[in-house]
Amino acid sequence: MSLLAHPAEDPSTTRTTGATHHARVSAATGEDPAESPASEPADSRTYLLNNGTAERYRGAVTESVERVTAKIAATDRPFTGISVDGLTPAVAAIDLEAPLHDPAAALDELEDVYLRDAVYFHHPRYLAHLNCPVVIPALVGEAVLSAVNSSLDTWDQSAGGTLIERRLIDWTARRIGLGERADGIFTSGGSQSNLQAMLLARDEACRRELTREGARTAARRADVLPRLRILTSECSHFSIQKSATLLGMGPESVISVRCDENRRIRTTDLAAELARCHRDGLIPMAVVATAGTTDFGSIDPLPEIADLCARHDAWMHVDAAYGCGLLVSRRRELLTGIERADSVTVDYHKSFFQPVSSSAILVRDHATLRHVTYHADYLNPRRMAEKRIPNQVDKSIQTTRRFDALKLWLTLRTMGAKAVGELFDEVIDRAADAWKLLHDDPRFEVVVEPQLSTLVFRYVPSADRDPQLSDRVNLHAREALFASGDAIVAGTVVDGRHYLKFTLLNPETTLEDIATVLDLIAEHAGSYLAEQPEPALSAR
Ligand SMILES: *Cc1c(COP(=O)(O)O)cnc(C)c1O
Repeated sequence: MSLLAHPAEDPSTTRTTGATHHARVSAATGEDPAESPASEPADSRTYLLNNGTAERYRGAVTESVERVTAKIAATDRPFTGISVDGLTPAVAAIDLEAPLHDPAAALDELEDVYLRDAVYFHHPRYLAHLNCPVVIPALVGEAVLSAVNSSLDTWDQSAGGTLIERRLIDWTARRIGLGERADGIFTSGGSQSNLQAMLLARDEACRRELTREGARTAARRADVLPRLRILTSECSHFSIQKSATLLGMGPESVISVRCDENRRIRTTDLAAELARCHRDGLIPMAVVATAGTTDFGSIDPLPEIADLCARHDAWMHVDAAYGCGLLVSRRRELLTGIERADSVTVDYHKSFFQPVSSSAILVRDHATLRHVTYHADYLNPRRMAEKRIPNQVDKSIQTTRRFDALKLWLTLRTMGAKAVGELFDEVIDRAADAWKLLHDDPRFEVVVEPQLSTLVFRYVPSADRDPQLSDRVNLHAREALFASGDAIVAGTVVDGRHYLKFTLLNPETTLEDIATVLDLIAEHAGSYLAEQPEPALSAR
């Protein structure tokens, strides 16, 4: 396939005075440039996408799609198992000062430094993190959005993209049930959504505190900040701590509340912590509930948390980065109570099968988004807001921003929300079956029965062996499996002990795949144990 334009259709080759010998030859003969020695530079401008180079663009992108197609069709394992040391020299050897001047050659090279050894999430034995296989309509969206390259910060850089994004925000808010005043914005991911939610909660708490005290005292923001507290479960995502730090709050500002045996926040403990804040003159600025913890997929009791937030005048944030897929699934009722949140994080790039990045923050009251509204004369002057020109930058902590919403738009317009929900339901069903498998298998022990699609478990060597050995066995099994490339599983720590984790997000992963991976883990564990000293000799 020719990467360059069909000569008759590519005015750039004739228009451009600096067209190289190489480009001329290709244009004249229609030969694949990859077959001719490609080293001389083409005119720089022929690389720019415009009306003169549209065919060249088609050729180059089609070629890349062909290669990825071949790759995806042929992957027989999620990973080659290459090590950091194995791959580093190939990448280091590339001379970035010596361009290839040939898209096909650049793709050939990419095979060696990336494509061959990439981790492929679409493979049914990729069971590690919250990475989903992606739906094709979203990939079509990705191709369109990067080529048109709208920036969603202002209407004058986006037009229809702005309206599409707003429709999807409204659609999501309606699915959540946030009410008529709801609004939100697409973000780069759950971490950014959580950060923005904490920023809004902080500034709302400051505003309320200052207006409350302002009448009597000369309270300043600087006096309020050290008294703010965020309450969240010990199983919540680390981006909450990170957000607090980024927002200038100390480590003491995040109160970690204990979970029950199903890894859901203990609401009695939460109530006690809220009361303690009150006693100590602290301000519970936000309670962060997790709808789908990263490790266990556990969903905090949202209605009880909503009651507590109402009683203590605390902002309720629901981190549904993982659990948001329930919004379109037949298990929607698992999210009951989410409609009472002040803000919600959703990661379409997790349970909506969207490519990275695609995420949003939703808020109950659009007015709270003013805490991120700043005006620049050159971009979004105040008069534009007065004229009701929709500048999305007024609601975002980013400025230049991708039109990620297009992927979800084409997904909903092509396959529909119900079909997305069915995919998520399928992996939840699979996790339930896999739990039974693990539960009945004496080689393993599993922590909780899943609400969503993760399983935290470990290989148990035998009852009379020491816990450190059990840790080492599981760490070894995970690493050995990764190095084999046969499957990829995650690891985590529960109550100080090392465990393994499956995150199921691929409906193509069968129970048989899972059984195979368990056998592989047991094999790696077994060979590790075989190399250990006798139990009687091992240190206790
Ligand atoms: C993944 C995850 C996040 C972070 O989202 P990113 O998109 O990775 O930034 C936040 N919260 C929870 C519960 C998550 O699972």
